[in-house]
Amino acid sequence: MNHFPIQYNEPLFRPPSEARSLIIQITLGCSWNKCSFCEMYTSKQFKARKEEAIFKDIDAFIPYANQIRRVFLADGDPLVLSTERLLRILTKLKNTFPKLNRISTYASPSNLARKSESELQELYEAGLTLLYVGVESGDSQVLECIQKGETFETTIEGLNKSKSVGMNSSVMIINGVGGQELTHQHAINSAKVLNETQPKYASTLVLTAHKGLEHYKNRYQGNFIELTQQELFIEMRTFMEHLELQETIFRSDHASNNLILKGILGRDKQLFLDKIETAINQPEQANLRPKMYEGY
Ligand code: SF4
Repeated sequence: MNHFPIQYNEPLFRPPSEARSLIIQITLGCSWNKCSFCEMYTSKQFKARKEEAIFKDIDAFIPYANQIRRVFLADGDPLVLSTERLLRILTKLKNTFPKLNRISTYASPSNLARKSESELQELYEAGLTLLYVGVESGDSQVLECIQKGETFETTIEGLNKSKSVGMNSSVMIINGVGGQELTHQHAINSAKVLNETQPKYASTLVLTAHKGLEHYKNRYQGNFIELTQQELFIEMRTFMEHLELQETIFRSDHASNNLILKGILGRDKQLFLDKIETAINQPEQANLRPKMYEGY
């Protein structure tokens, strides 16, 4: 494609694994927009896009219809829309792109909790099969400090509800997000959330204060003391030690991660623990990568 057929309302974000997907914006911004660590949509006011504008964007790709296999729905939390509206969009996508085999989106646990199981089932059957859920932490106190609007319980409820209808989840935990005071409970309860929900994919990234540490501290509802590099690894060790996953594809390879871990949990748990141990005690032998990224 030489000339891109549509114009996005920027900034535009997508998960790394959606690099080859067609992105369709069905909402703009994030309806919550309050998380202390997140600057993704602070420049935008949340808005649901008009259906005719969305359909026009979809139609712009009719000349490439047979090449499109994956679609990612943006921006921050499209599942805030009514199920009827989402179903019309999913149906339009399926009817336009005959080879489409995956539709995905960002979702918050509350988005999921607000839908009934039968609504989620309808969405799944209409093609929405993968959700990217920023869990950030499984610890309710940390979640309160970062103004996530979720708790340990709501996170588990949302993830398990979507799982029960067949949807896959890719969940993300932020290493260091609760600082020194809450590091231990953050690690343990984040592991517990994953154990209780057994997601298909899980990843960790390292807290990165996009607008500077002071800005993050001002938005954090508590006393935030940044973890040192070694403390970040210790938090990862506690998290890993408490994980009891059966078959989760695990990635800790975001540009903010110094220590790259990629594999399947439980299978690779001991291997990961050995690598983390080396990073803590012999960092010069741990094959660490310089931090490549300074923002989300
Ligand atoms: S982390 Fe997600 S829910 Fe929180 S403000 Fe950012 S986009 Fe919205």
